[in-house]
Amino acid sequence: MKSIVEELTRFDSLMEKMIALEKGEKIISDGLCYWGNEKKQKERIDLTLMGAVHGNEIIGLFILCELFEKILKGDLQPKINVAFILGNREALKQDVRFTEKDLNRSFQKNKKHASSHEERRAHEIESILEKTSFLVDFHQTQTPTHRAFFVLNYTRKSHLWARFLNPEIPIINFKEGMKREENITSTIFTNHAGGAGITLELGEKGFEEKQLEKALKVALQGINSFFEMEEKWSIVEKKETGFIEESFKHHHNFYCIVEKVEAPSEEGDLHHDIINFSPVKKGDALGVFEGEELVSLHDGVVIFPKYNKGRDKVKRDKKDPICSIASVVDHF
Ligand SMILES: [Zn+2]
Repeated sequence: MKSIVEELTRFDSLMEKMIALEKGEKIISDGLCYWGNEKKQKERIDLTLMGAVHGNEIIGLFILCELFEKILKGDLQPKINVAFILGNREALKQDVRFTEKDLNRSFQKNKKHASSHEERRAHEIESILEKTSFLVDFHQTQTPTHRAFFVLNYTRKSHLWARFLNPEIPIINFKEGMKREENITSTIFTNHAGGAGITLELGEKGFEEKQLEKALKVALQGINSFFEMEEKWSIVEKKETGFIEESFKHHHNFYCIVEKVEAPSEEGDLHHDIINFSPVKKGDALGVFEGEELVSLHDGVVIFPKYNKGRDKVKRDKKDPICSIASVVDHF
């Protein structure tokens, strides 16, 4: 694997070539649009693909470079308006999640003042998300995972979007966190602006060929089959029931967060064999705190575990849950 500095140099040189294309245009710093849809030229962005919103989730940088290569070689010719955004270059260079504030908690509906690097960056990105119909924000997990998964805040449109991109990848629905004014994610911001935003958690942070392939497959489905998606949505939008509800019956991989597990104290830790998508039964031990077992209150899978010690120690806000439990639902 190339170093991040080398890959950023590659990104910059590819970005310049993309902007030099007749259909290419710089739209924000570290962001460009390929205007492939002549009908809607420069009014709407059909699809936004974003990566490295968290600086230590480096795969996003590689995904964007690969897509640029494909377009420059002529192997990929988008017929839609596609924006490509590199989320947080500063954090990437420093190999940290963020420099001052979590960028993915910095999007706001009404920005009064931006006091950190990430809030200023979020403001810049918002100008694109406001015009975006569909967003895929590529992320990686901080700790190991048994599988890749989509994360969304349920709307019919975002659910359809995830299913359309890859029905085999499970969906984790975070129902909460819908505060309108502050500290929202890129995907919630996009949903509020009328689009559909989803996150794809590809695997544990770092470079992995398999993750890159999975991401490219999703990106290419979004770009090449976009009109099919629009058509599907225009049908589903008018119906009370239909594809969305049907899809619960056919895919047993839609999960809702049913429990946010708080650490009872600072003294203790989750069991380190518990990783993303580890199955748990009600009553199973998740960890030990001050000599007492902490147990799951539900059947489901563990999502976003944060250990106190060991190689996967994650810097955690005290208010953050130590993990969440997600359960399969077959109706809504
Ligand atoms: Zn992330």
